[in-house]
Amino acid sequence: MIRVGLGHDTHRLGPGTELVLGGVRIPHDRRAIGHSDADVLLHAITDALLGAAGLGDIGEMFPDRDEANRGRDSAEMLAAAWARVAAEGWRIGNLDCVIFAQRPTILPHRAAIRRRIAGILGVAEERVWLKAKTGERVGPIGEELAIGAECVVLLEKD
Ligand code: MG
Repeated sequence: MIRVGLGHDTHRLGPGTELVLGGVRIPHDRRAIGHSDADVLLHAITDALLGAAGLGDIGEMFPDRDEANRGRDSAEMLAAAWARVAAEGWRIGNLDCVIFAQRPTILPHRAAIRRRIAGILGVAEERVWLKAKTGERVGPIGEELAIGAECVVLLEKD
């Protein structure tokens, strides 16, 4: 049995000193604004996994009206969501992710981000792919007002 899941997330950007992307802290002059640590990529992955398994979404599992989720580590949220999905017998076929950011250039950080995601999920790095697109300097992504991410995941079960 196979299932596919899609995750998408957007966060506003503001002045800052670092971005948290895929569980990796990247020095940068903008930061993502959000209730948790605003890791847009891990949020998209979390939603893709929950959606593929038909187990809800990140907002249901970690409501932003819950004070326990303020400033929360998104890696911990992803691990909790994946544990719930894995408990239903699902294994990860692969993930394919896209970051939408005018800056910074993601390529120098790609290996570290893939390694971190693979580590959180307990899968081989080869099953986690990542690419990035700029906003061509137009719209909220291109004007560096927002950052986005998408993820497609394939789940398998005997
Ligand atoms: Mg989010």
